[in-house]
Order: sequence, then C-alpha cells, then structure tokens
Amino acid sequence: MAQKQPDYDVIAVGAGFAGLGLIHYMREAGLSVRVFDKATDIGGTWTWNRYPGAASDSECYYYCLSFSKELLQEWRWSVRYPGWEENLSYMHFVADRCDMWPHIQLNTEIVSADFQEDTGFWLIKSADGDEFTCKYFTSAMGMISQPVIPDFRNMDKFQGPCFHSSRWPHEGLDYAGKRVAIIGSGATTVQMLPVVAQTAESVTVFQRTANFVMPAVQKEMTSDWEKEIKDNYDEIISKRRNHVFGMPFDSPVGRDLADTPADEVQAILEEHWSRGSFRFVFETFDDLLTNAESNRIAGDFVIRKMLEKVRDPDVADMLTPKGYPFFAKRPPLDHGYHETFNRENVNLVDIKDREPIVEFTSTGIRTTQNDYDFDIIVLATGFQAYTGAQESLAIRGRNGLLLKDKWEEVSASIMGVFVAEFPNLFMVTGPQAPFANLPTSIEQNAMYIADCLKKMEGEGLAICEPKQSAEDAWVAETAAIHEQTLMAQGDKVNSWMMGANLKDKKPRVLIYFGGANVYYDRMRESVEAGFPEVQFEQQVS
Ligand code: NAP
Repeated sequence: MAQKQPDYDVIAVGAGFAGLGLIHYMREAGLSVRVFDKATDIGGTWTWNRYPGAASDSECYYYCLSFSKELLQEWRWSVRYPGWEENLSYMHFVADRCDMWPHIQLNTEIVSADFQEDTGFWLIKSADGDEFTCKYFTSAMGMISQPVIPDFRNMDKFQGPCFHSSRWPHEGLDYAGKRVAIIGSGATTVQMLPVVAQTAESVTVFQRTANFVMPAVQKEMTSDWEKEIKDNYDEIISKRRNHVFGMPFDSPVGRDLADTPADEVQAILEEHWSRGSFRFVFETFDDLLTNAESNRIAGDFVIRKMLEKVRDPDVADMLTPKGYPFFAKRPPLDHGYHETFNRENVNLVDIKDREPIVEFTSTGIRTTQNDYDFDIIVLATGFQAYTGAQESLAIRGRNGLLLKDKWEEVSASIMGVFVAEFPNLFMVTGPQAPFANLPTSIEQNAMYIADCLKKMEGEGLAICEPKQSAEDAWVAETAAIHEQTLMAQGDKVNSWMMGANLKDKKPRVLIYFGGANVYYDRMRESVEAGFPEVQFEQQVS
C-alpha cells in the first residue's frame, strides 16, 4: 500500500553551509527537515579540508550566513581569512545558537535516492541499509567536495601515507622533519606549501600547470575594523547580494582597462594589488574577464608581481603561467607561496614539459629523469566540481533515470536548482549556477527552494516537475554567456570550472557567468511569477 506520510518533508545531504542554510529556511517555512552527512562533524569543506594552511579565500565578514542579524553581531572573527578551525567553530556556533543539531545526522552515508512514482516521495538509503522517505530531496553536497584521485602507475606500492589533500588525517600528521611531496599546484597547494615548508625536511611540488596567484594580504581583525563591519552589516549583506560574484565589492567600477591610459592602469592595478583579495579583479576594471587585451595586461602585471619574489630564474620560468588567460583557471590567493620557493628545502618539478611522473615506487615517485624519495605524498589534485558529489550517489528520477547518466554529455539544470525528469528534487548550487561567494549563493538558493515549497504546501501541490523547455533554455543561455567570457578557454588548461580536469568526461559548461546578482534576480522573478520553470501537479499521476 502506498505510504501516506513520509518520514520528513525535506531530506538534504550535506551538513556544510548549504545544510545549515537549508535547516534555517526550511524550518522557517514550517517544514520538517533532516540533514545527513557521512562526515563525523558538520562543516562540509571545513571539516574535510584540514590540511595545513587551509583557510577561506573570501574575507570572513561576508563568508558567512546572514539570516540572523544577532549572529552576525555576536560572532567574532580573529583574522581577515580564517583558517579551517575558525570556520568550523563558526559553523558550530551557528548550529548551537540556532538549535540545529536535532536536524542533523552525522556518520551516515547516503548511497541512493529514488523518486517513487506511486507516492511521489523520495526513498533515501544509507550505506548501513537504513531507509528514509521525504517529499522533497535536496542536495547540499557542495560544489567542490568530490576529490579527484589520479591514477599513477603503482600508486599502491608507496609505503608511506598518501592521501588526497581533502582527506588530511583528522588526528593530524606529523610532517616535521619529513620529506613531503605535493602533487598539484592549485589553490590548495598555494595555501599548504608555505606552512608545510616551515618544518618539513623538504617539500617537493610536482607541477603540471603554473597558476596566476593573487595576494591575499592576511591581517588581524582589529576592534576598529570589527566595529566598522558590524555597524554596516546591512549594507554589506545587501552589497554582496547585488554583486556579480556575491562579494560586497564596489563594482562594476564603471571603467574599462581598454579605455584607461597606460600609466593610470598600472597605478590602479598596483593600488589594488597591495590591498589583496579578489578585489584585484572586481574593483580595478570591468573588462578583465571579457576583453582579451585588457586581460593580458592585467595578467602580465600579475606575473611580474609574482615572479619578482622568486630568486632562481629557472624556478621563476616554471612558475610562469603560459598559454592561457588570467582567470581561465580560478586564481588562488597567496600567503607567501612564491617566496617559499626560495627556501633551500623546497623543490619544484615540472611534470608537464620536463619530467613527467612515470610511477610511484615503494619509497617515492619516479619521473622520466629522477627517482625521488618521500615519507609523505599529498595528492592536491583537485575536485570534480559541481557534479561530482551528486554523481557519487545513485539519484534516480522518473523511469529510474540516473542523474549521472543524464549528465553524461551536458550537466543540465534550471538555474542549478531543478533538473528535468527529477520531480521534487532541489539542488543548492548545482551545475549551471554561478561561481560566487558560496554563502551568498547558498542562502539565495535556500530561500528560493523555501519559497517553492511554501507555495506547494500552501496550495496542496504534490509534484514540482521541472520543465524540459525551461532546462533547455537555461542550458542554452548559460552556454551562450560562457562563450563570451575568457573562462571559456578553461578547457585548454584543465580548469575545474569546465570539468576539464576530469579524464573520463568531456569539458562542459558548468557555470552561469551572467552574474550572481543577475541570477539572484532571476530567482526572485521566478518566485513572483509563480515558478514558470516548473509544472506543479496536485496529484501524483
Ligand atoms: P585545483 O585547483 O583543481 O588544482 C589541482 C592541481 O592538481 C592542479 O595543479 C592540477 O594540474 C593538478 N593535477 C590534477 N591531476 C593531476 C595529475 N593526474 N597529475 C599531475 N597533476 C595533477 O584543485 P585545488 O587546489 O584543490 O583547488 C580547487 C578549488 O577548490 C579552488 O580553485 C578553490 O575554488 C577551492 N579551494 C578553495 C580554497 C579557499 O577558498 N581557501 C582553498 C583550496 C581550494 P593542472 O592544473 O595541470 O590540471
């Protein structure tokens, strides 16, 4: 007999920022909600990524949830870019203060979610064999959470610890006096290297592609700065809501590099370089990501600034990004990365043009030129962004269609929230949502989902069926905008922003680059228009 009542209105997977945001907005909508996570703690990114130096690249005061003015006033950050411990403490503070724990079930890996055609409910199964049902199934699994593990020959032969950067042992790992290898040179390595190099006997970075790296400029949170932030929080939150990347920056700045005299260009770039953060991209000129020549000039500036810190010209040459535009890969923020290559105990190996990795050995890594011995190997090899987490469990929609199969060629969605053929499924920052300051997007998505569910509950609607035509339109629009940006060249350099870092998948359009603010407006318009992207059904058919 068909089940009349599900166990929960909403089940979400993922207890990071998205899970906490969903708990707040679903509870506010009067819905029962359960959030599962396979991790031992809440925190998402900040519970998994415990590598030395792990910190947010967004500044603390806007890398947070904004639904409670009291919490914004109460929480105290210690630095501009908090480390993982502080981010995790912040998330505990939110969960404690908002009494969220009763909604959270940790140590529970969800392995499948099946839409039940007869009841219209979702059946959720855990790895332990437990089953749960809900009306609305929601992915809160994060954009950058599913690790990419490389497949070098004989990887299993290495005798020492070898793990992905996001699986740094929670009990800690004593690397002092040890020989450490890091494979990869993305944002993770840029943060990790300067810290590990301080006490390791040696650190060797195996680099395939050099990155454009911008300064973070870490600083203490002073009481004056804190007061300024807290006195202006309403404006800050409104500004981040209205910014192309969900950050409270003064942009668009109303000037293009292409129209600015050369000496002024250099002065403006210099001034923003010294301030640090992504402001360098968003508060200098409006055409850096769309005009190839403007991008080249800014990119050359970045390269000059990066390399003036490196003493060895050969190392500097290896660290020079070549053959792709600035921001075609997501630029890391720097906490002393380039200077670290001046240390005696730090080596850089170019595994693209000079000495590719041949295999792992029991004692280290063999390249075409050398045998290197290590005690520890860290795979800082990135993530299957946007789709990886959802594809890691078996999500089946209408007619048993597997989401992973649906996304084989095109990672299609409607605004990164709905997927055609998957009724009553919702995603927080799924594929084809913008790439933006995540807490901003997460809250906007959670509010949008809450509005949809309030409508359904209020009007007694059983099914929210995303329209194929709306999905086709969003896919086409996202692709057309993508083509107009320089990020479309990310497929040349394995950019995760296009899934071009995955060996078994073709590069694809994963990000809506029309502006996070435009996207948030679109969701509001959708709410006001009664969600024209979906077909509501009163009955399960
Ligand atoms: P990533 O930027 O994708 O970098 C992965 C690195 O591993 C690249 O250098 C890549 O080389 C290399 N690699 C991958 N597979 C390889 C293989 N088989 N052989 C050799 N090298 C290989 O990953 P990530 O550094 O972990 O950062 C990912 C994203 O996570 C960031 O862009 C950022 O959005 C987020 N993140 C954020 C923070 C923060 O906000 N604080 C910190 C860390 C990460 P190629 O470039 O040649 O592919």
